[in-house]
Order: sequence, then structure tokens, then C-alpha cells
Amino acid sequence: MSGSSKPVSVEAILLGVAQDGGVPQAGCACDCCREARADPALRQWTACLALVDRAAGQSWLIDATPDYREQLHALQEHAPDCPLAGIALTHAHVGHYAGLIHLGREAANVQDLPLYASARMAGFLRENAPWSQLVALGNVDLRVLIPGQEVQLGPRLWLTPLAVPHRDEFSDTMAYLVRGPERRLFYCPDIDGWDRWARDLGQVVSRVDVALLDGTFFSADELPGRDVTQIPHPLAIDTAERVAGAGGEVRLIHLNHSNPLLRPGPEREWVAARGIGVGATGMCWRLDEPGAV
Ligand SMILES: [Zn+2]
Ligand SMILES: [Zn+2]
Ligand SMILES: [Zn+2]
Repeated sequence: MSGSSKPVSVEAILLGVAQDGGVPQAGCACDCCREARADPALRQWTACLALVDRAAGQSWLIDATPDYREQLHALQEHAPDCPLAGIALTHAHVGHYAGLIHLGREAANVQDLPLYASARMAGFLRENAPWSQLVALGNVDLRVLIPGQEVQLGPRLWLTPLAVPHRDEFSDTMAYLVRGPERRLFYCPDIDGWDRWARDLGQVVSRVDVALLDGTFFSADELPGRDVTQIPHPLAIDTAERVAGAGGEVRLIHLNHSNPLLRPGPEREWVAARGIGVGATGMCWRLDEPGAV
């Protein structure tokens, strides 16, 4: 490599691994949240993925979380020459879009930032204040995604939204397949259950290099008194069984403040023994280099 060459990598960077409420969660007195208040190193931003194309000088975010300010800063520190070129949203639960408040006239007042969303999510933003003002004033440029149809984000990055079943009060929910020049990543922070999805998780995972999956709860024990069939997320125990042997790198994200996977311990060892990791903020994957397998 010559000394003057600019970095050309295409990367995906994990910028948060917590469930919508973050860690610590507001007002929560559980041990995990108390410890996280005492030790900032234990705090966790809400799940968010960044994509960077250094040759194009562009970056994107999947979801605008309540931690958007800090996450955008972390992204700009990581890739200072790659200003934000767009945001793609998964769904209308607060952990995934409330960070849009930072785009409007009270704050950054961005202009025509491409905002990718499903038709229902786009309609929700267009029709409901305060989000409607972002559209009306041209802070964002809504780009409607059609499930299953790939869109090109930049010269070397493509995104395919896949509709997944999830509580749909205000919008439907997308997971995303990210495709770089050489490697593919699947990002699915929220889904009600793998059985309720038309696709087979093992098959989806086997076709990508990296899968970042809904790991909200490790087991039903985290929610004493709750019927396990009523928990609207797959349990890590169930996910582990489905991806066993699928190959590629699998990591759990979107961890609830109650989730023991947030800390080292037997639960992490249990998933590790099944070939599954836990996501951590700052993890980075090159999408422009062939995978190891
Ligand atoms: Zn969520
Ligand atoms: Zn807590
Ligand atoms: Zn959700």
C-alpha cells in the first residue's frame, strides 16, 4: 500500500447493543442498572448499526436511537471523513427512531437527509408530529423501501429490507440484509419469534457472514411470573438451537437490562459453547474482504 493511499474499506460497526430502554434504564433499581450507574463502562447504548464506505466518504445508520447524539459522535470519530449519508429505520418503537429528534430545526437542522423506511413507517412519520415537521421542512428525504427489494445505498453498499413479525401498533418491522463488495451481514434487533417468520432462521444465517440477532432475553427466568409463550422475543436458548451449525458469525444484540449476557458469566459461556457470541459496542466487520470461510 502506498503511503498516500486513502483507506478504502467498507465496514459495518456496532454502535449499541441494548434493548430500547438502554442500560441503565430510567428509574430502574435492578442490580444491573445500579451497577451501570456506578460504573459508566457498564452503560450500554440502544442497538444501532453503522455502515461506512471510506472510499466513497459516506456513512449510514440503521436506526436513530435515543442515544443518537453519542452514536453519531462515535461514528464520526471512527470515520471522520465519512459524513452521514442516510438513515434506515427498522420500526416505530422508541428505541429505533426517537433519535430523529436531533435532525430538526431545534438541533442539527440537516437538509434532505435520505431516510429509508417501509411504506407504513414512512406514513407514520409523515402523518404524526413532531416527525411530520422533519418531512415538511425537508430535513429528511423519505425513501420508501419495499420488503425483499434491494436498494443501493452507495457505490459499494446495498440494503435489502426483510419484513419480520413484531408488535405493530404504529409500523411494520424490517430486518436488514447488508451487502458489501465481498461479505453480507444480517441485522435483526427485534422479532416476536422465529417460528412466526416466513423464513427459516438457520437458512438466512447460513447465507451471510455475520448475523446480529434479537437476544433481548436470555431465558424466561428474567421475567418472574411471566408466561414464556407471552414473551414477544425469541429466547437466546431457542435462537442458539436454530443457528447451530449454520456457520458464519452469530452475535446476540438488543439485550434487555435484565439480560445476564450483558456481563461475563455462565450464560455467556452457555451461548459460546453453542458457537454464539454477544455483540459489543465498537465491533467492526470488513465487508470488502472475502470471508474466512
Ligand atoms: Zn427494540
Ligand atoms: Zn434495570
Ligand atoms: Zn420493537
